[in-house]
Amino acid sequence: MGGGQLGRMFVHAAQSMGYFTAVLDADKTSPAGRVSHHHIQTGYEDPQGLAELAKLSAAITTEFENVPADALRVLAAQKPVSPAANAVAIAQDRAQEKAHFTRCGVPVAPNAVIETPAQLEAVGDNLLPGILKTARLGYDGKGQMRVKTKAELAAAWDELKRVPCVLEKMLPLAAEVSVIVARGSDGQIVNFPVQRNLHRAGILAVTEVHEGSIAPTLAQQAIEATKTIAEGLSYVGVLCVEFFVLADNSLVVNEMAPRPHNSGHYSIDACDQSQFDLQVRTLAGLPLTQPRLHSPCIMLNLLGDLWGRNGESPAWGQVLALPGAHLHLYGKHEAKPGRKMGHLTLTGASVDEVRKTALAAAAILGVETF
Ligand code: ADP
Ligand code: MG
Repeated sequence: MGGGQLGRMFVHAAQSMGYFTAVLDADKTSPAGRVSHHHIQTGYEDPQGLAELAKLSAAITTEFENVPADALRVLAAQKPVSPAANAVAIAQDRAQEKAHFTRCGVPVAPNAVIETPAQLEAVGDNLLPGILKTARLGYDGKGQMRVKTKAELAAAWDELKRVPCVLEKMLPLAAEVSVIVARGSDGQIVNFPVQRNLHRAGILAVTEVHEGSIAPTLAQQAIEATKTIAEGLSYVGVLCVEFFVLADNSLVVNEMAPRPHNSGHYSIDACDQSQFDLQVRTLAGLPLTQPRLHSPCIMLNLLGDLWGRNGESPAWGQVLALPGAHLHLYGKHEAKPGRKMGHLTLTGASVDEVRKTALAAAAILGVETF
């Protein structure tokens, strides 16, 4: 379900193991639809499209977080679906997601749900300055507004059309990290190493995975918290949990994605199994083995901003002249600011080496240094 770049990389992984694939996405030119054996070009709730997908498939998964949970329920009546509609539904709603984290004993940022004017009025100064986030359908910093005062908060809620929101206290972040796990229907669970992420304007810009990128005790804590969150959902599939690291080295959980994640793309080139390989395995009921990072790595997201005014591509030749440069482009036709067009993973023999090539790549591409 879903034809974006995550689906495309899933399709590549599935096909390399000999599977045939079917993608449901209304967009004729969707990145995954274009590389799949079958492409069903309907909306997510189209009964005929869903029936065809169920007929063609032995098992069904999603690459898009906002596939209507009810569509997954319809499919689940016919074929195995993972992750389950209930887990996806929780991840689709920031308020429910936070309630789940709290049930699991993992701390969240101080926050308040805002669905009514009375709830808006009742917000205390302890949550300001804060970030007002729509409870549903936000991504890449969309559906979010930063507010300093109650007047700004009221104006922001108006601007967001008074849809259900969560106001979160703005926390001073020392770092951001994420953890990806894969869990099988038998409860077996494996994890990738902890990713250190740099966001710019609410969008992931850089992911680093190597020794020294995060303190080992903190990494262990994040991995344990992620496993608890997955187990609490009886989750089957690949799950990513994002965390904030605060100045005192404490960990606060931010959000989760019921699918492979942008911060895990490095695993294609730097691990012995990628997050997409593990998605295939969980879906097919195959054994899971703990993935191993074989090279220190840094991933740079390639946003549409790097393309020229008339769609001219960045200087790939120069970038690919760097040792350990792995270029992934998603086959999107039009480059727009903030649009994820591809990513570049740099691997190397040592952390120093990989930092050097990543900084050189950033300079060639015009990615702000990090
Ligand atoms: P999205 O669904 O768009 O990824 P997030 O909730 O992850 O939304 O927010 C995007 C980014 O905004 C985060 O990665 C972080 O950099 C920043 N951010 C979000 N919430 C907070 C917060 N409470 N305090 C500080 N920064 C935040
Ligand atoms: Mg996020």
